[in-house]
Amino acid sequence: MGWNTLDDMDLAGKVVLTRVDINVPVEDGKVTDATRIERIKPTIDTILAAGGKAVMLAHFGRPKGQYVPEMSLRVTVPTLEKVLGRPVTFIEKPDRAAIDAAPSDAVILIENTRFTSMETDNDPKMAGFLASLGDIYCNDAFSAAHRAHASTEGVAKLLPNCAGRLMAEELGALEKALGTPERPVVAVVGGAKVSTKLDLLGNLISKVDAIIIGGGMANTFLAAQGVDVGKSLCEHDLADTARDIMAKAEAAGCQIVLPVDIVVAAEFKANAANEVLPVDACPADKMIFDVGPQSSKNIAAVIQSAKTLIMNGPLGVFELEPFQKGTFELLDEIARQTNAGDLISVGGGGDTVAAINMSGHGEDFTYISTAGGAFLEWMEGKTLPGVAALGG
Ligand code: AMP
Repeated sequence: MGWNTLDDMDLAGKVVLTRVDINVPVEDGKVTDATRIERIKPTIDTILAAGGKAVMLAHFGRPKGQYVPEMSLRVTVPTLEKVLGRPVTFIEKPDRAAIDAAPSDAVILIENTRFTSMETDNDPKMAGFLASLGDIYCNDAFSAAHRAHASTEGVAKLLPNCAGRLMAEELGALEKALGTPERPVVAVVGGAKVSTKLDLLGNLISKVDAIIIGGGMANTFLAAQGVDVGKSLCEHDLADTARDIMAKAEAAGCQIVLPVDIVVAAEFKANAANEVLPVDACPADKMIFDVGPQSSKNIAAVIQSAKTLIMNGPLGVFELEPFQKGTFELLDEIARQTNAGDLISVGGGGDTVAAINMSGHGEDFTYISTAGGAFLEWMEGKTLPGVAALGG
């Protein structure tokens, strides 16, 4: 792979500028979920163990280039200190002298990089200033790597650079799933709309052997084939696009797996009266909320024949009882195959991670990416500027 890891760098006595993602949820001045902070610990520990000084760069919220007191990173300091098990020196207005003066056992956190619009503009002046603060640049924020900002891209080009532990782990897992995967590879693409996943489908067709399509977006594909989907969520104006995708998939030898039976209801609410019907029997006044049991069986068979699986999007309205069944049965099968050592499974995206956690399979995927936008752009085959800048 074309980037260095921390192991390739001589960190002793160096100031290691480390881009992290600690954009954690905060309520009443307290961090309510420390997951993102916990995930950067291996990188910080590695830098310190090698005798380097870790200086963290991070954004917090979207202050739009202004100083916004509620978006100060100071609020994260107590949690950082607890998780990292050492003092954290918070520097509001950074300069190299302040960094050099900080105690050698301390980790340094610099105030929200987005308090100036030079960050999101990727202004060379800001990149140059950041570079003057350190000797080595380490990017451990895969989730911010789809943005070309001064702290994710500009500065990387100005210093010897490397990927942090979390970034390397994420890139390694993604490479295994779509870069040089064990075949057959199957993709599960679900969720609400086709329109938000056109680039994704376009990229996957040429890379995977089968795409299982579920959720609201399956309705658009079904309708494009002449199936009446009643009052279901459906982008009828994308019928041509859906047919085009199916034709391209066929030409590329990529199997498209659509539901053969459906769960329908008249009301969008939990425990709404519902029934299982063949896919072409949706009543005119009802909506499709989930895939039916025969579809689940077909999907399980496709997964059983696969060696690698990548998933983005649920198969139904998994937030509402009992319309999570199709998604959960799919996740059960992925978990079974993964735990048996027969499948490499990678899932990502906000709703997908929520569904995986709800189903109790949070530990049963080979890798779960929490990097929403960056994960999607990577699945779309796009170059992530923050990764591309890690030229080694
Ligand atoms: P996305 O953000 O595109 O991955 O979409 C996720 C959302 O799609 C979830 O909130 C699901 O409830 C919703 N969804 C899945 N299946 C359906 C469906 N058949 N009808 C309406 N919404 C759905």
